[in-house]
Amino acid sequence: MKVTRELFNEVMVPNYNPAAMIPVRGKGSRIWDQENIEYVDFAGGIAVNALGHCHPELVAALKEQGEKLWHLSNVFTNEPAIRLAKKLTDLTFADRVYFANSGAEANEAALKLARRWALDHHGEDKNQIISFKQGFHGRTFFTVTVGGQPAYSDGFGPKPGAVEHAVYNDLASLEALMSDKTCAVMMEPLQGEGGIISPTPEFVKGVRELCDKHNALLIFDEVQSGVGRTGDLYAYMGLDVVPDILTTAKSLGGGFPIGAMLTTKDIAESLKPGTHGSTYGGNPLACAVAERVLDVINTPEVLGGVKHKEQLFRDGLNAINEKYQVFSEIRGKGLLLGAALNEKYQGRARDFLVASVDEQLMCLVAGANVVRFAPSLVIPDEDIKEGLARFERAVAKVVNG
Ligand SMILES: *Cc1c(COP(=O)(O)O)cnc(C)c1O
Repeated sequence: MKVTRELFNEVMVPNYNPAAMIPVRGKGSRIWDQENIEYVDFAGGIAVNALGHCHPELVAALKEQGEKLWHLSNVFTNEPAIRLAKKLTDLTFADRVYFANSGAEANEAALKLARRWALDHHGEDKNQIISFKQGFHGRTFFTVTVGGQPAYSDGFGPKPGAVEHAVYNDLASLEALMSDKTCAVMMEPLQGEGGIISPTPEFVKGVRELCDKHNALLIFDEVQSGVGRTGDLYAYMGLDVVPDILTTAKSLGGGFPIGAMLTTKDIAESLKPGTHGSTYGGNPLACAVAERVLDVINTPEVLGGVKHKEQLFRDGLNAINEKYQVFSEIRGKGLLLGAALNEKYQGRARDFLVASVDEQLMCLVAGANVVRFAPSLVIPDEDIKEGLARFERAVAKVVNG
């Protein structure tokens, strides 16, 4: 069978519009397409391939587990899941873990847990969930409603209720919505899809205080920011604010689908047997790979390397900007960076992405005005240099029309 991009349109639901080329293999931070054209990968599968493509340790973990046991369902537990949960709880504030298969499912579990917890401890009036405009929490109907982009949640009929949105980095807007009816506040400790927006230290601390004041749970969606992405194992660790529930996915599997919700022992009590579940969640194959991802990432070399590589990106992007004057700001943390377009290039982030692909570079956008970079956490310095050289050519093309 000849597999082409045209065939995609004939057999796929049209919700995606992928690039014209079809990648067929990857190694580290390089990708090759069907024509054997090579690309530098600054996209990392949208902050998923935290150890690049086909990292030898992850391939080994997958092969090892692949010859032992793939799947059981939650009628039985398994060793990789228990080991992974033990490591996650040892490394974070949490004492209990629920496994899912994606970020949205981890968030769905977090939101359902928050509602149950509030019902168990405070009665049925405490059901309001507050999140933030521009936030992103996944595409199930509950999570997309909690997300702050109506373009994603409108058009599907009546939405789940008691969900409200405050303005990120505006504590007064949150305070105005909060009351003792607030059951949880869900936020990204660094907004990803919404444009790479870091919270101010006062804002995150203030959110925590408001949650404490109103007996509401604080849920950190670390699906994009977690597992070393910001240079800390989880972003909350660099913010000095501890959530009650944390969700993690994307980088956790390094490319193998997995998600997890982490919480404390007391809050976890509300997910009694039968209250929630997933057929694949905690699948041994996924957990074996994720365990290895954590082992490799949670080292001073890798986490320290993120900070060093962030600087290479910032220096390179600033140098490009001095020449071409396209960005108003380089923002984000660690290897989740955004180059925000200035007035002159508003709405044109996708043009930079398309020009990059032409120059054999994969990058991302975060909305219409930000070019986003979420490469492997172990991307070699040479690949950063080469990728930035290609990006400069792409920028030149856009600037020169
Ligand atoms: C990607 C993302 C999700 C959704 O994860 P899926 O695996 O696509 O369901 C949720 N929250 C944040 C912050 C994300 O970046």
